[in-house]
Amino acid sequence: MAPVILVLNSGSSSIKFTLFSGDAVQLKGQISGLGAQPHISLRSHVSDTRVDRDLTPAEGRTHAAALDALLPSLEQELGGQDVDAVGHRVVHGGVSLTAPVRITGEVMTELRRLEPLAPLHQPHNLAGIEAACAAFPKALQSACFDTSFHRNHPWVNDTFALPRSLYEEGVRRYGFHGLSYEYICAYLKQARPDVYAGKLVVAHLGNGASMCAVSNGQSIGSTMGFTALDGLPMGTRCGQLDPGVVLYLLTAKGMTAEEISDLLYKESGLKGLSGISQDMRTLTQSDAPEAAEAIDYFVFRIRRELGAMAAVLGGLDTLVFTGGIGENSALVRRKVCSDLEWLGLTADEAKNQSGAEEISADTSRASVLVIPTNEEEMIRRHTEKLLSSEAVSA
Ligand code: ADP
Repeated sequence: MAPVILVLNSGSSSIKFTLFSGDAVQLKGQISGLGAQPHISLRSHVSDTRVDRDLTPAEGRTHAAALDALLPSLEQELGGQDVDAVGHRVVHGGVSLTAPVRITGEVMTELRRLEPLAPLHQPHNLAGIEAACAAFPKALQSACFDTSFHRNHPWVNDTFALPRSLYEEGVRRYGFHGLSYEYICAYLKQARPDVYAGKLVVAHLGNGASMCAVSNGQSIGSTMGFTALDGLPMGTRCGQLDPGVVLYLLTAKGMTAEEISDLLYKESGLKGLSGISQDMRTLTQSDAPEAAEAIDYFVFRIRRELGAMAAVLGGLDTLVFTGGIGENSALVRRKVCSDLEWLGLTADEAKNQSGAEEISADTSRASVLVIPTNEEEMIRRHTEKLLSSEAVSA
């Protein structure tokens, strides 16, 4: 029988979930507003059931309580079938966890040790794991890491120019959004093997945003570094920043580490620059010059990284757009691709507006693709592989 796999993506204030039977999505939704105004919304793709309701404060107080509130809908959907495995998105696997793993006590200890490296993501990922272990004690629990895809990138992209002892203790460029890049590469390998074999830049542009240079399916460089703060500006995160600014905030302005962390993670990026919104749709619809400037800065940084990545790759065969903005904003794609003939890249505006997968002009040497990412499906595949390898060795 097809394995039943629940994929969980636990963040600070939300738990996104997808229930798969084999490779078919049965149920999908999220619990949002944890700790504040908790709300559950889900949709069954089998029975077309929809749930859209506020949770009580008690139901939304912790990740464990929220998962409990989800259980009745899951049980109704499963009709007596067990959940065989729960696959978790985990932001940081550090240096040692380089591939998806079954979560054991030892793995949890290592994941907890990594919490300081991703303080805004990892603790919530781990809270989701603990809640799922309690709710589904018989299921295999797997951890799939956003860092794994980059672990074999070249040393020059792995290090900072700091004393080596810091590198040895783990102060490295890890790179994130790996599950998204892995999904895109797996898709290309199957659907467009010629593209897969070439020099690619994948731009994952969502609330979180990064870019990855890929050669032959291997990450060569990414814009994110030690934390998911570096590189491109994001919804509320600043992206690349002169470290001298942090020193200035600390010493001249007397800000605390917590205040600086809040500023860089939650008040910067598109939100900070525009003073209007972190949401690209809102900015696109706004007439305010600050909204246009925020979009201009976003596009400028993408173009700058694209040029740098083309140099590192020794050329560019394909640019892939993905993520909420990459998949949906024809405006951002048009601005990023303008005047790139020198790079052999010309987009076709009619195709860009049409929803086509390939939006480059027929005359363009390099191709431009728009491919929807699917991190949940990637986690499902990894978790299914772990399930079947354990069944073979049992
Ligand atoms: P996350 O990183 O949280 O998964 P998403 O990948 O869902 O985020 O991307 C969210 C971003 O995508 C938001 O800035 C949103 O405004 C943007 N977006 C979604 N649809 C559109 C659209 N049609 N046009 C422009 N931007 C869009």
